[in-house]
Amino acid sequence: MELNNQTTEKIQKNFLEEIIENDLSSGHISAVRTRFPPEPNGYLHIGHAKSICINFGLAKKYGGTTNLRFDDTNPVKEDTEYVDSIKEDIKWLGFSWAEEHYASDYFEQLYLWACELIKKGLAYVDDQTPEQIRLNRGTVQTPGVNSAFRDRSVEENLTLFEQMRQGKFKDGEKTLRAKIDMAHPNMNMRDPIMYRIIHTSHHRTGDKWCIYPMYDYAHGESDSIENITHSICTLEFDIHRPLYDWFIQSLGIYPSHQYEFARLNITNTVMSKRKLLQLVKEGYVSGWDDPRMPTICGLRRRGYTPESIRMFCEDIGVAKRDNLIDYSRLENALRDDLNKRADRVMAVLNPVKLIIDNYPENTSEQLDAVNNPEDASKGMRKISFSKTLYIERDDFMEDAPKKYFRLTPGNEVRLRYAYVVRCTGCEKDEQGNVTAVHCTYDSLTRGGNTPDGRKIKGTIHWVDADNCLDATVNVFDRLFITEKPDETEEGKTFLDNLNPNSLTVLNGCKVETSLSQAKVQDKFQFERMGYFSVDDSSTQEHLVFNRTVTLKDSWAKQK
Ligand code: ATP
Ligand code: MG
Repeated sequence: MELNNQTTEKIQKNFLEEIIENDLSSGHISAVRTRFPPEPNGYLHIGHAKSICINFGLAKKYGGTTNLRFDDTNPVKEDTEYVDSIKEDIKWLGFSWAEEHYASDYFEQLYLWACELIKKGLAYVDDQTPEQIRLNRGTVQTPGVNSAFRDRSVEENLTLFEQMRQGKFKDGEKTLRAKIDMAHPNMNMRDPIMYRIIHTSHHRTGDKWCIYPMYDYAHGESDSIENITHSICTLEFDIHRPLYDWFIQSLGIYPSHQYEFARLNITNTVMSKRKLLQLVKEGYVSGWDDPRMPTICGLRRRGYTPESIRMFCEDIGVAKRDNLIDYSRLENALRDDLNKRADRVMAVLNPVKLIIDNYPENTSEQLDAVNNPEDASKGMRKISFSKTLYIERDDFMEDAPKKYFRLTPGNEVRLRYAYVVRCTGCEKDEQGNVTAVHCTYDSLTRGGNTPDGRKIKGTIHWVDADNCLDATVNVFDRLFITEKPDETEEGKTFLDNLNPNSLTVLNGCKVETSLSQAKVQDKFQFERMGYFSVDDSSTQEHLVFNRTVTLKDSWAKQK
């Protein structure tokens, strides 16, 4: 699969690569400069990772640079906590920015340019309330109505705008609007608002400003200040492009251009920051970094690697039309990566004792085990074996169907890296629950081979009951039960689509002692059980693992 990707990549360029190559070869630009412009009003999610991979990836591919620009033009929702997390997440994903900027650093320049537009007769102060402005915009079928304040003189506009800045007016009392065309077929061109009054402290500029530029005005002008050549954003902004161009052309500043690609949507999750914030605030998850969240920090805590996320973004490509990507593609990228990277260990999540009746008491052996069959350089380790082991409860059945190749009375099974054992029966408590399974071992099968060549169909994992560690394991399922949680019946919200069983905490799991050295974020394959990562809350005294992903896609079957 990987090979295919590489070959198709070489043959087929995405549309952004084509645009950039044309711009470079025609001499239209001499170097590519992109930017990643998050609003610091939440944590980054997998959709942002897509945008990061595109912006940083394109610049890297063509020897250009990428700026990180915080689009911090709305003081109400923004915070330095988010700024810090965004920087951490981008670095973790493996990218570095050329320059770090804040739209708020451009407030003075943006203000001066707004005055310039006023002087050119291209902007005016409007006294209508935001509500009136909305009502007077018209509809797609009908033109809007000119504001009664549209023809104010340049002097009056300059004075009023200055007074807006000085704080002479209350929130919503006045706005600055671009003077374009109230009958324009594109609603965004009907005298869009450039500035609104918000008397709220800003996380960086404090109380210096009480007028704040709107996205459409601030974004293109910030791109232009930084000489961004390709301002790449998601599709919903395509109808904003004429306005983006209008501001730049009216001001005669560096001609940055905007290009749109399809935003990433993934099944069984939500990606709006507002909704993710609601999940956090209302306690549906433990925080932004809850391992079930689609946030970068959530994926990291869950055990995702930066490589797997980059591979996924590469694999899904850059589309021009909106689409919905199956969550399993993200998981498959992760499996491919962890298969190469993760050491194999044995861990029993739902333990029951297995007693080998003919094995000597008070004896133990150190058996050889391969750390990673995909990577010989990872070497071997010793694992302890003795008379009493733990195995998965599921690996024993008293009355088993024909095709059950694990432990059932009379049946032979290979204990991974150890011996072949034959099940002899079990012990039960008064309620009929199995409390121990019994077997005998064949001492000639050390290492798992049968000298007489007899076939052993099943191999199970185990840990030495006398020499193992306790652990807690968090097992996760999809956070939402439906593919498109945002789509709900009347009267319901996305919260009604939450999966009530998305987290199962398994206490009393038994893991091999080599894991005593495991550090937070270390990743392992628990043989037969999946990939697991050491949780942030884990300590040497109390190991906690997160199940990152199962070995196979268990959802494919359910569909
Ligand atoms: P939200 O609507 O959830 O608040 P946003 O798009 O406003 O998200 P920003 O912080 O403004 O979030 O996004 C920064 C950059 O990441 C933008 O260029 C945006 O287009 C891009 N981005 C956000 N979500 C996605 C997504 N799902 N897929 C691809 N790119 C995305
Ligand atoms: Mg935004």
